[in-house]
Amino acid sequence: MKPRECRARVTAVRRLAPEVLEAELAMVEPPALDFAAGQWVSVPFGPKTVRAYSIASPPLDGRHVTLCADVAPGGLGSRWFRGLAPGAEVAFKGPLGGFVFSRADARRPLFVAEEIGIVPIRAMLAELYATGFGRPAALVYWARDPGWLVYGGEFSSLSRRYPNFAYHPVVASADGPWRHAPDGLAEIVGRVVADVTGLVAYVAGGSAAIDRVRDVLMARGLDRKSVKWEKFW
Ligand SMILES: Cc1cc2nc3c(=O)[nH]c(=O)nc-3n(C[C@H](O)[C@H](O)[C@H](O)COP(=O)(O)OP(=O)(O)OC[C@H]3O[C@@H](n4cnc5c(N)ncnc54)[C@H](O)[C@@H]3O)c2cc1C
Repeated sequence: MKPRECRARVTAVRRLAPEVLEAELAMVEPPALDFAAGQWVSVPFGPKTVRAYSIASPPLDGRHVTLCADVAPGGLGSRWFRGLAPGAEVAFKGPLGGFVFSRADARRPLFVAEEIGIVPIRAMLAELYATGFGRPAALVYWARDPGWLVYGGEFSSLSRRYPNFAYHPVVASADGPWRHAPDGLAEIVGRVVADVTGLVAYVAGGSAAIDRVRDVLMARGLDRKSVKWEKFW
């Protein structure tokens, strides 16, 4: 899965939340992208300027890839994403990155996402459950309000269908300890994880949240290397 220059055509754009857009792409070159769930693509904006977007779709059919972005930051990447419309051709390099789930790893996964950090985790969970995964797993997912829990319906549905999958959505409350993502995530991770034996964590979002979640898990005895992370900002 060596990264390569790619071209694709936008086939659909959906708004998942007021400032979260999802774009479906049909691959043109190569006709199918070979990637692992959790990897990302790099969109060029100049000789040294790129923006990274994780692939939201599982790698079950590489002819189609889905990207999903929070366009609130408002910079080059957000403006590019807002401008995507069906029929547009896009260029990027990919796949890239090592934030991927290894099925050979027998440990129990804990997924933790801060808002749009859910994107690579959604790809991993979609692949795991589409291809059969019976082991215990949990997802802790923070958002500023229920409308920002994009893909939340999918995770609720997974938790109903698979009793071994525990879904813990966390929504900010104006005065509670969960107002800020790092506090909310750290608090719930602390409650959910009674024992770190045999645990591996996948954490994605901003650096403050990643650090706080790692601190909580390490305080319980988990080694640093068992906390895998993808820093979006
Ligand atoms: C490996 C990787 C994968 C990524 N995958 C995605 C993805 O799937 N979807 C996605 O929306 N973004 C993703 N990002 C972030 C993305 O690359 C851009 O940084 C983001 O879209 C903002 O770009 P911009 O040009 O609009 O704003 P910029 O002008 O580059 O950013 C403005 C500021 O906002 C910060 N920032 C960036 N994103 C956020 C955010 N969501 N919330 C709060 N602050 C933020 C930046 O660090 C910067 O300080 C990923 C980043 C990395 C490194």
